[in-house]
Amino acid sequence: MAGNHLSFYETVNVYFEKAAALLDYPRGLLEQIKACNAVYAIQFPVRTSRGYEVFEGWRVQHSHHRLPVKGGIRYAPEVNQDEVMALAALMTYKCAIVDVPFGGAKGGVRVDTKQYTEEELQHITRRYTSELVNKNFIGPGIDVPAPDYGTSAREMTWIADTYMALNPGQLDALACVTGKPVTQGGISGRVEATGRGVYYGLREACDQADEMKALGLARGLAGKRVVVQGLGNVGYHSAKFCQEAGCVIVGVAERDGGLHRPQGLDVDAVVRHQKERGTIREFPGARTLTPTGAALELDCDILIPAALENQVTADNAPRIKARIIAEGANGPTTAEAEKILLDRGVLIIPDVYLNAGGVTVSYFEWVKNLSHVRFGRVGKRFEEAASERMLAAIEQATGRPFAEAERRQIVRGPDEIDLVNSGLEETMIGAYQQIREIKQRDARIHDLRTAAFVSAIHKVARSYLELGIFP
Ligand code: NAD
Repeated sequence: MAGNHLSFYETVNVYFEKAAALLDYPRGLLEQIKACNAVYAIQFPVRTSRGYEVFEGWRVQHSHHRLPVKGGIRYAPEVNQDEVMALAALMTYKCAIVDVPFGGAKGGVRVDTKQYTEEELQHITRRYTSELVNKNFIGPGIDVPAPDYGTSAREMTWIADTYMALNPGQLDALACVTGKPVTQGGISGRVEATGRGVYYGLREACDQADEMKALGLARGLAGKRVVVQGLGNVGYHSAKFCQEAGCVIVGVAERDGGLHRPQGLDVDAVVRHQKERGTIREFPGARTLTPTGAALELDCDILIPAALENQVTADNAPRIKARIIAEGANGPTTAEAEKILLDRGVLIIPDVYLNAGGVTVSYFEWVKNLSHVRFGRVGKRFEEAASERMLAAIEQATGRPFAEAERRQIVRGPDEIDLVNSGLEETMIGAYQQIREIKQRDARIHDLRTAAFVSAIHKVARSYLELGIFP
């Protein structure tokens, strides 16, 4: 990508070093936190309609300071080892920032999913999984994959099934992967979790009166003009939740073009149009943008890059008008672009914090699989009965009966989705405040990414020190 002279992994390490320079840890400990602990590169054959083809794949376990390690699997035509290492490192820092007790990992298979049938993708996924099983690179207590770019609940089902077939009778086998469909041991709310987390993080950021004033923006999300790049899992859900909160989605971008409509786009209508036509282009009432990158430079308050890394570069950063960049994707902003944007006073809400909703709810799914019980199953009725008794006592004391609708609303015990969303909201708000406090306490820290990395390094360092490896 023009203007980006560093690889993705190097970029992550630039961010790491910027934070590390502010801390007092021994160099050896910092090197250990930074290093990729295990890298497994494989080439495996799969028979497709074109005959036998050899696919290249990776699984990188960045940090073993906590086990299992965790991170998604990416299917993309350009994925490479450097990228998977960068993504694995981000997972370590991300988990630390939101207090999810895992080390970081990531997987990748170089495959253009559009060129293969569902059956072929299933063969590729199952073969990749069995390679991971063979090398002990997957397991509920070892390494737990999840969806990422180009994969979804469908691939996670194939992974779980392959793992279970190769590990018959293993009680916790379902916890070998997260992001499964709810009917296959998944958890309600995982599909939309990353986008919902992006929304909670943005809402929290926009709720800080001083910071919004400094940006020249009004407090609160309502009325903010938003552009979203990538209408996949993260982008679609981020756009949807922001729209529901009163944001105006003035632009969206997909691979083959962008859309601009200053009065706002209906995200669901755009997605329907895309399904019917195979493209978002020519959406009625909107201006179609070519090339798609032009959408990043639209007049807006918030830009949510939610496609891939290296999208905001030294090349386009000077033309970006958004006052807030909300990193839904991993690594969308190059280090050079970040400097330009920070100098212009843009608020960057970093990937390592903002897209942590996915791994947070994946953690809940893993806990659910290990406990073999759905969240809310045990307590729901008990809580409802307790609330009923409380209402009865209040009615007796006041002599005023509650209206039926009011009663139902107060008494209703939590379902799994309520608990998942509440846990996610608590996580995103708590982590934002931790990062913000780190930034406010140290005058040398001017941006949220450095504060987030400081938070991560402290937490990972603490656990290494507790392990006694670095006395
Ligand atoms: P996805 O495959 O569901 O969607 C990605 C979308 O981006 C696709 O619709 C694709 O067509 C589009 N796209 C690709 N190149 C584009 C371009 N140049 N311009 C505009 N659109 C483009 O993937 P996803 O799971 O939503 O992941 C997106 C990003 O979010 C990745 O960086 C991923 O690592 C990160 N992420 C994903 C999760 C998760 O839970 N899925 C969690 C954290 C971070």
